Amino acid sequence: MVRSSHGVPHCNALAEQNDAFLFHMKRAQMRLLSKGQKLKPSSAVKVRVRKTVDPWYLSTEHRQWRNLVIKRASGRCQALEHGQRCTRAAPRHRMFADHITEVRDGGAPLDPANGQCLCGEHHSSKTAQARRLRYHATP
Ligand SMILES: [Zn+2]
Repeated sequence: MVRSSHGVPHCNALAEQNDAFLFHMKRAQMRLLSKGQKLKPSSAVKVRVRKTVDPWYLSTEHRQWRNLVIKRASGRCQALEHGQRCTRAAPRHRMFADHITEVRDGGAPLDPANGQCLCGEHHSSKTAQARRLRYHATP
């Protein structure tokens, strides 16, 4: 703010008024700022991370299907590599009940015939392959 410097009282009075106004504004601004800071912790927006796990996977039906599939395979991975069955098995390895035809590809979700027991490694490689196939599939 350029202060009036040419000595006209009227102008000086205006300039003083202006300063008073600015001071007032500044104070109001400071009050707002400190108020905002005080409010921050309680009014902070909480980022909600939504888990995209389908509640269906937690249902009793799915759990029963899963147990059946793994039990039927005696907790051993059913993947075949060069005609040899994978040797990974529970409880040493975590086993997954896998949908042979993925549900999102139209596979029956609770049909034991559409299930196989896979180790983590084979499960993730199969999931990746299914995703690749889906990606390359022509609609
Ligand atoms: Zn395996």
